[in-house]
Parts: sequence; C-alpha cells; structure tokens
Amino acid sequence: MIVQQLAFILVLATAAFFIRKRVLLIRNTIKLGKERPVTGRKRERLKNMLLIALGQKKMFKKIIPAILHLFIYAGFLVINLEVLEFLVDGILGTHRIFAPWLGSFYTVLMNVFELLAVAVLLACVFFLIRRNVLKVPRFWTAEMTRWPRLDANVILFTEIVLMTAILTMNAADQVLQTRDSHYTATGSLFFSSFLIPLFENLGTTTLLVIERFAWWFHIIGILGFAVYVTYSKHLHIFLAFPNTYFASLEPKGYINNMPVVTNEVKSMLGLGTSETVTGEPGRFGAKDVNDLPWTSLVAAYSCTECGRCTSECPANQTGKKLSPRKIMMDTRDRLEAIGKTIAAGGEGLNDGKTLLNDYISKEEINACTSCNACVEACPVMINPLEIIIELRRYVAMEESRSPAQWNSMFQNMETSFAPWKFSAADRFNWAND
Ligand code: SF4
Ligand code: SF4
Repeated sequence: MIVQQLAFILVLATAAFFIRKRVLLIRNTIKLGKERPVTGRKRERLKNMLLIALGQKKMFKKIIPAILHLFIYAGFLVINLEVLEFLVDGILGTHRIFAPWLGSFYTVLMNVFELLAVAVLLACVFFLIRRNVLKVPRFWTAEMTRWPRLDANVILFTEIVLMTAILTMNAADQVLQTRDSHYTATGSLFFSSFLIPLFENLGTTTLLVIERFAWWFHIIGILGFAVYVTYSKHLHIFLAFPNTYFASLEPKGYINNMPVVTNEVKSMLGLGTSETVTGEPGRFGAKDVNDLPWTSLVAAYSCTECGRCTSECPANQTGKKLSPRKIMMDTRDRLEAIGKTIAAGGEGLNDGKTLLNDYISKEEINACTSCNACVEACPVMINPLEIIIELRRYVAMEESRSPAQWNSMFQNMETSFAPWKFSAADRFNWAND
C-alpha cells in the first residue's frame, strides 16, 4: 500500500509542478499588458460573474447546446467533488474514506455523480457528432485549423473516457463489495449497476485489477486534464470568471478616448484641458500585445473559440477576411509565443514579430464596421473590437497608413468637424427651410 501512496504523491507533485509552471507563464504574459485600473461597481461586476460565468446566462440564446453545455459544466463542478475523495484516499492509502462518515448520503451523492457522468458522456457524444459529422459551419471556418479542431475533440473524447472510467470503477467495486468485506459498502449505484453483468463472472483478482486500473486511470486522467487545460481553449473554465468580472461596464458603443488626443482637441477648440495625462504618451494604439490593456490579454486566454462572434460578424458574413474569433486566437497565440521565448531565456517581445502584421493583418482590422455584434454575441463578455480599435489607432496615428479614403475623412473631421467636406458654417443649412 505504501508503494501506491508514494506513487500517488509522485503523480500529484508532477502535475502540480507542470500546472504551476504554466500558471506562472500565463500570469507573466498577462502582466505584459498595459495598466488598466478596474475600480468600483463591484456589485455589477459580481453579478456579471455569477450570471454569465457561473450561470452561463448568455449561452441560453441557443437552447439545446446550452443545456448540453450545462450538463458538462455541472458535471465538471460536481464530479470533481469526488476527486477530493480520490486525493484523500490516494495520500492516506484508504478506500472510499467518506463512505462510512456520510452513510446513506454517500449513496445519494454517488448516484448524483453517476447521473452527471452519464449526462456528460451523452453531451460529449452529441458535441463530437455536431462538430465532426454535422459539421456546424462555425467550427469549420478558416481559423479553425488542425490544432483548434483537435483540441476540442481531444477534450470531448477525454471526458467520455473519464466518465466511462468512473462507471467502470463503481460497477467493479459493487461486485467486489459482495465478495470482500474490505470493500466499503456504497449502497446501490443506479447507472453503474447496468455494467455489473459484464463483471460478475470475473475472478476477484481480475476485478481488483479492473477497479484499481479505473481508479488510477481516472485520477491520472483528471490531473493530466488539469495540465492540458492550461494549453487549451478550455482555460475558459477558469478564466471566464475574472474575465466577466473585469469586463467593461460601459455601454457597448462606448469607445474610450485617448487622454492625450482629447486634451489636444479640447485645446484646439478652446475648451481647456480636463483629462489628466501622466508620464510619456508612449505609443498611440497597439502594435503588439504589450500595448493592449491587461484585460484584453485575460480575454484572449478566456476565449472558448465557440465562433459565435464570427458567425454574427457582418464583415465576415460578407466574405471579408475579418473574424473576431481569429483576433482573440491570434492574440493568445502571440502571448503564448512570447511566453515560450521568455521561458527558454529568449528575447520575449523582441523576437522580430508583432501582433499587428505577423498575426493580424491590416486587411482584417480595416474590415471591421465597429458594430459590436461580436461583443454582444460572446458568451463570456469578450470584446474583440477593443483590440481591433487599438491596432487601427496604431496604423492611423503611428504609421499614417490608413486607407486613402479614410485619410480624407479624417481630414474632414479635423477641418469640418464632420466626415463630409463642407464648411462648418454651412453645417446646419439643412434646417433653414
Ligand atoms: S465589431 Fe467588427 S469584428 Fe465585431 S462583429 Fe462588428 S464588424 Fe465584426
Ligand atoms: S470571442 Fe467570445 S464569441 Fe468569439 S469565439 Fe471567443 S468566446 Fe466565442
């Protein structure tokens, strides 16, 4: 037994080591972002987090996927309570340590876990079919290359295998309980009972091997899953919470001003200057991830790659190259590339690449109509438009390389205070008659 305990502690420590390494890397790349103080309105922020991240409120625009997603999510939250028992048993070398303490409530709890395990299993099968057989278009657009598609399938498949392991373990355990008093009574477990006919004719040693194999497989699978999630879009399971909490509470059409520019315009118009500008103005807009606010970087790691934003995007629908999902995926890819270079002792940001041009092209950002449809559609309150606007600001203000038609509009705004070229004095002629 002591060998098993040591092996378990070793597995646990290895997983903890890799998870910590990844968490630090992700944290360090998020810290590359610009300061953005998020203060006040804590009740609203908390409400958003509870309703949207925990309650999945925005998912319910599409009812069937929403219910199935809820099964997986509830399964994830509730079944992981069982992992607590796995951890204690693994460290102390016990078996179902909570069963004698909880008595018949343990049986109820195990049946709830099994119900959720079956719901998760069915939901995952449905999602695999929807992605790979029915080929829902938003999972097959250009940015959904081999890795994002594989990532989604790996997780769904892993969930199915892990849930099967739980049911197998419980079924073998129930047969063992009838043969060996060492096995703590769990009471009747409804769903795994259907598997008992597969096991009841097997020898006790074989059953022991199956039960122990399923136990180890499940816990190693859960720990492996926890490490894998940090590399995957499934990081949203955790980061959706801070992302919804720190998301902007301004109305959707609100675009934040640049204080330096606001002051300049106010002084030109003789309105004085009101906004406080501290320190050097730095770069206008964003060329790379370190020019973006840290909240946009958390958002990039929180993206579920669901494609709801892209399927609502009018630019994308009319065949333009822009996909708001790709904007978020590219931002995360850039962060990951920088993080890996830093971890390998490299230059990080100075690797000769930038978010603009090397990941996101001007053609993409210029296609955006600033309509906010992507922001409205996102189930975890991500704002791809904010990144697009910052990149466009850089192109317009640092490179002066906006499309020629835009430059004449900018000039009209400066001279006529309107996008059209007419004298400011004529502006209200339309009201004369
Ligand atoms: S704001 Fe831009 S990216 Fe978002 S949906 Fe509208 S056009 Fe597409
Ligand atoms: S930005 Fe939001 S809507 Fe778009 S793919 Fe990511 S999670 Fe889905």
